[in-house]
Amino acid sequence: MSKVENLENIIERFGPHLHDAPDGGWQADRVIDKVVPTHCPYCGVQCGMNLLVEKGKLVGFEPRYDFPVNEGRLCPKGVTAYLQTHHPDRLTHPLIKRNGVFEKATWDEALDLVVLKFKELQAKYGKDTLGVYSGSSLTTEKTYLMGKFARAGLGTRYIDYNGRLCMVSAGAGNYKAFGVDRAANPWSDIPLAEVLIIAGANCAETFPVLNKYLWQQRDNGGVWIVIDPRETATARQGDLHLQLKPGTDVAVANGMLHVIVKENLIDEEFIKSRTNDWDQVKAGIEKYTPQVCSEISGVPAEKIVQGGLLYGRAKTGMIMHARGIEHHTNGVDNVLSYINIVLATGKIGSPGKGYGTITGQGNGQGGREMGQKADQLPGQRSINNPEDRKYISEVWDLPLEEMPEAGVSVVEMFGKMREKEIRGLISICNNVMVSLPDTNMVRETLEGLDFFVCIDFFMSESSRYADVVLPGSAWSEDEGVTASAEGRVVKINKANEPPGEAKVDWWIINEIAKRMGRGKYFPFNSPREIFDEMRAASKGGKADYYGITYEKIEKNNGIFWSCPTLDHPGTPRLFEEKFSLPDGKAKFHAIEYKGADEKPDEEFPMILTTGRVVYQYLSGNQTRRIGFLVQQCPEPYVEIHPETAQKMKINDGERVKVISRRGEGIFPALVVRTIRPDTIFIPYHWGEQLAANQLTNPALDPTSKIPEFKACAARIEKIHSRELPILGKGRKGASLSEVQRGK
Ligand code: SF4
Repeated sequence: MSKVENLENIIERFGPHLHDAPDGGWQADRVIDKVVPTHCPYCGVQCGMNLLVEKGKLVGFEPRYDFPVNEGRLCPKGVTAYLQTHHPDRLTHPLIKRNGVFEKATWDEALDLVVLKFKELQAKYGKDTLGVYSGSSLTTEKTYLMGKFARAGLGTRYIDYNGRLCMVSAGAGNYKAFGVDRAANPWSDIPLAEVLIIAGANCAETFPVLNKYLWQQRDNGGVWIVIDPRETATARQGDLHLQLKPGTDVAVANGMLHVIVKENLIDEEFIKSRTNDWDQVKAGIEKYTPQVCSEISGVPAEKIVQGGLLYGRAKTGMIMHARGIEHHTNGVDNVLSYINIVLATGKIGSPGKGYGTITGQGNGQGGREMGQKADQLPGQRSINNPEDRKYISEVWDLPLEEMPEAGVSVVEMFGKMREKEIRGLISICNNVMVSLPDTNMVRETLEGLDFFVCIDFFMSESSRYADVVLPGSAWSEDEGVTASAEGRVVKINKANEPPGEAKVDWWIINEIAKRMGRGKYFPFNSPREIFDEMRAASKGGKADYYGITYEKIEKNNGIFWSCPTLDHPGTPRLFEEKFSLPDGKAKFHAIEYKGADEKPDEEFPMILTTGRVVYQYLSGNQTRRIGFLVQQCPEPYVEIHPETAQKMKINDGERVKVISRRGEGIFPALVVRTIRPDTIFIPYHWGEQLAANQLTNPALDPTSKIPEFKACAARIEKIHSRELPILGKGRKGASLSEVQRGK
């Protein structure tokens, strides 16, 4: 069946005005009756944009020049974001699976069934038999609500969120070294830095509009050191590219620090007055000579020396990193080894001196602040801390003894589902069949659940396995706040109502809690009421939002937390005077190189690494439906170096099989010199037989519990034409548009 929606259906659903409109429904002569300033739903840059509304329908966008981060700029995802709102694939009514087929249901039928099953499961197996899996593309109000829903609504300890697959290694490293989890600097500091180290971050594709600041830094005479196994669009613009083997960041960072120490480029005064534990690090990096690190990482020793000298000699500098160093079983070690360089050179806490992770999801920062993490309570409080538990119990008016203990990370939750310790799951804003490692194992786990509920606004590869699907809201259909990757809290505004019978997400959660008999804890009538309770819950915490109001955000184009009082201006730059650990000092950590969990061997001689492309967003459930984005990047591919391709007689464009210990997939070869000969790369935004995560390794970092998406052993095989897949076939269950059309 063609993936293209039948034109007659579209006209029937959206009216004849679309008949002669170009792709996406734009008409130049529209009479716009409302312009709604808001922010892009996708990445953590959170670009400002104006949404155009005609007769209650979102029909386009305009640049929003007043927002200082993007000043009107948008990337390909941003300019097409509005097209998802009235997309024909939107879920418009609750669905209940009966005899393996989804059928339309009323809200009462669907919610009553959810509550009946949840109560039955908890009566039989205990409160913790239910799991909650949430997301960081939700507004912060919703993430707060999800944390409260799990603990006070369902009474389960098992909640986690999809930031676990994203920036948790950075968060854990930040806690250990600085005592708080937030980028240290506003992006306006970037142009002030003489040298930037960009490690494992292809900003050009994954954070496109951030390049505004990077290019300004270049215009000011600045230098970039890019550390990446691929010569990405970002690396190509850099001055020095350290093209390391995936999983060897500790060696590269320790090697550069070794050079900095040997050349006496450390800031002794800063180390003495503002840090602890330098001596162990200094002693530990003695053996990490450039030659040793070169042998481990594959980066020429002279380039490691050049990197150390460039950064060490500069008066100002910033280090920024992303999933490339974080998605590892030693992700936290990788982060800490770069932080050691920052601290040793005293390059933090003043203009042009700083450090930060580049979070992928739109609310990747806010999503890890208000209690939807397995061990977290609102305000970046710890559920393991008796004082924090008591404070939040009081804010919620929940008896302290009812506050559950810490849960476990999402990959561990899936383990508990297989062991039947968790039998029911409610999931919102994620797509595990694309985004978790080892998707074959994920599929078996979902199929084995007693009861599975999904809240989403498009049917996804994962919600097909649900027993009940509840149609939620797209970003333009509700208000709330997000925190961008620089820690700026911005306001998302509502432009239109959800289509059909779809509801705003917070209403759905509230309603389930009420029907579970826990309505006392969920008295909310609006996102603003949730926000106000969240402010109180965050008060005095590390991520303190108490002094932030919707009005203050809009007046100031965002407020950086921490903002403890109503007259506080917010905190764009952290650590100017002290760090957030108890004695106010930052902490060095001596880090040893360990490498990836799975190393190449005879059977699997290549290193597979995965990542993203500019035209798709995370699990692709939103962007794989937008015509322009699909045209630009319709399917995944495997990047192979020409040397490898020549040895195996593989031609550019030829479909090849990629096999790991967990699965195999068939992908067209993209033969490029920009990848290391020992490494292959597949972008991960697709599902089923196109999923890169069929292959990846679910081994976890011991601290952050992030899976090792960025390095596993694999091999490539040539295939015979009879093995070629027929794309779009072989999915289990019907697509939603087929269900809606009664097919
Ligand atoms: S850079 Fe990020 S926030 Fe900006 S338009 Fe692109 S996806 Fe949206």
